[in-house]
Amino acid sequence: MRRALLAAALGAAAMAIGAEAHAFCLTHGCSESREPCEYDSKTGCLVSGPVLHWASSCVSFDVQKDGSPKRGITYDVAHAAITAGFAQWSNASCGEGRSPSIRINDFGPVECRTPEYSEDGPNANVIMFRDDDWPYDNAIDTLALTTLTYDAKSGEIYDADIEVNTFQSNMAISNVGPSDIDFNSVITHELGHFLGLSHSGAQGSTMQRSYAPGQTEMASIEYDDERGICAALPPDRIPEGSSCEPRHGFSKECALPESCAFAPARSGSPLPGALLATLWLSTLLRARRRTKLRP
Ligand SMILES: [Zn+2]
Repeated sequence: MRRALLAAALGAAAMAIGAEAHAFCLTHGCSESREPCEYDSKTGCLVSGPVLHWASSCVSFDVQKDGSPKRGITYDVAHAAITAGFAQWSNASCGEGRSPSIRINDFGPVECRTPEYSEDGPNANVIMFRDDDWPYDNAIDTLALTTLTYDAKSGEIYDADIEVNTFQSNMAISNVGPSDIDFNSVITHELGHFLGLSHSGAQGSTMQRSYAPGQTEMASIEYDDERGICAALPPDRIPEGSSCEPRHGFSKECALPESCAFAPARSGSPLPGALLATLWLSTLLRARRRTKLRP
């Protein structure tokens, strides 16, 4: 069982640059354990390793069918918020009436509630709620997590899953109170990761890395976010195909037993020697502990 876990080194860079950081960052795959990762001195963006990207002009997503009973968020309500979030990104203005070169296709509710990628079976890009546990570090401050599995050589994204921390976060969709976490803000941010964006140093952007409870502004993308998504998915790029299907086809069921999740064993790429890698974007931290951002 071989895998490369790439820590989200983006955070460290953003911290180092501090107030001078002022722009969106694309997501690059770089493993500090294998090689030194380089950062742009002006933006703080990680710039070494391949740019993570969807190769096709279409990508599908699925919402886990149970929603979040703990927070009273039904599938339908979650689905509506997620659909609206995706629409903002895919309809972003890239100038001259153009928009990012991606179509988002909804493949409907799925059973699977495990973030996983199967290298020899069908897959799904699932958005799911974790009501019962949050098995990651820095649990209390992490509002959601996006996991991208990609070809370590080319950067092509094979799979994306989003987990929302409803176990520890008082997530609300409407009537967001001062201590509530606005699901619309959280999911719009995560969908930016799903589509290839990393954290931005631009104050007020949806892709900024921290969130203050009660805040709802991040639910709508800003100019910096638009610039970011237009750079990640340029209107004039030449996509590799137009299929919306996940890699190896689509399945509503989990492919792997839970204990094997996150275990891409070999490269799914035809390129010899290419590694399959997983990037955990530790994302959207509560603003009240900014000084303790996870690396
Ligand atoms: Zn994030």
